[in-house]
Amino acid sequence: MVIIIEDLTQSYDGKRNAIDNLSLKIDQNQVFSFLGPNGSGKTTLINILCGLLKRNSGKVDVGGFDPEKEPNQIRKMVGLVPQETALYDYLTAKENLEFHARFYGVPRSNRNTRIDDALELAQLTDRANDRVNTFSGGMKRRLALVRALIHDPNILILDEPTLGVDVQSRNEIWNRINELKQDKTIILCTNYMDEADRLADQCAIIDHGKLIVLDRPENLKIKYAGGVLLEAQIAVSKDMQNQLYNQLYEKYTSIKITQLEIDDHYLVSLPANVEANQLLTEFSQTIQTFSDLSLINLNVRTPTLDDVFLELTGTKLRE
Ligand code: ADP
Ligand code: MG
Repeated sequence: MVIIIEDLTQSYDGKRNAIDNLSLKIDQNQVFSFLGPNGSGKTTLINILCGLLKRNSGKVDVGGFDPEKEPNQIRKMVGLVPQETALYDYLTAKENLEFHARFYGVPRSNRNTRIDDALELAQLTDRANDRVNTFSGGMKRRLALVRALIHDPNILILDEPTLGVDVQSRNEIWNRINELKQDKTIILCTNYMDEADRLADQCAIIDHGKLIVLDRPENLKIKYAGGVLLEAQIAVSKDMQNQLYNQLYEKYTSIKITQLEIDDHYLVSLPANVEANQLLTEFSQTIQTFSDLSLINLNVRTPTLDDVFLELTGTKLRE
């Protein structure tokens, strides 16, 4: 199921755009991730794709249908796990699934099998008849996930699926997502860069409702954050500052030096497309030419999507 979004713009107040002229295409049988900070427009976009929110302008095509005009078709195709799990707290796990299955038109003949399978998948068989309000956050998330799958939709949309869940539940959810993409299109909205990095085939980084960049996570990291990233905290006297800036900026075009709150301390961040040991040796040699410079700490690591976000927007994903 291909999804096409063209020139989509959405505003709640007519002043600021929650979605700002967004265009992109989502291919089938892959995990397509929207990575962006809180308020970047992820939930708004999803609500438009699911037909829960009328758009102001632009085109949206979900598997050949316009969500605004053919909500019933969309409902058959799309399973949504909303940001707030939206389960019925006073119903049991089983009752929640039954309600959903009926609403989404799962035929009576296989409803019970589907529900039992779903409970097993969520590892909640033994809690089937317990009310949801007795469940942990992780259990609720797992239940919300299988509930969205109960009518076997082609497209699965997950809005912050691991927000506030424990590590174990998170890993289970990640594994499920990886299995499901064999025959489903999965849209994953998240502000966890490691989640997008780990799961996404394509990652759209968004900020203020705008598409900043779209590519495979590994390509984004190489392109915008280098193959390796060297980070060093150094201390150097005020009068050496100019010399330090000149020399380092001249030698490394991609270097960033920030002055820290602590007196005379600087944070150096240097992305590069060379091997880690080469970068380390070269950088060490360079800073040795400064007589009264001391190295507080030094590390070389693989860049993350957070580094990509920082490079492209000047801010961190989450403060
Ligand atoms: P995200 O899901 O990425 O956190 P949202 O889509 O929820 O982002 O929000 C995008 C922008 O739209 C934010 O500025 C938010 O404050 C605003 N917004 C979201 N929902 C509403 C609403 N129902 N009414 C008014 N403004 C909203
Ligand atoms: Mg949201």
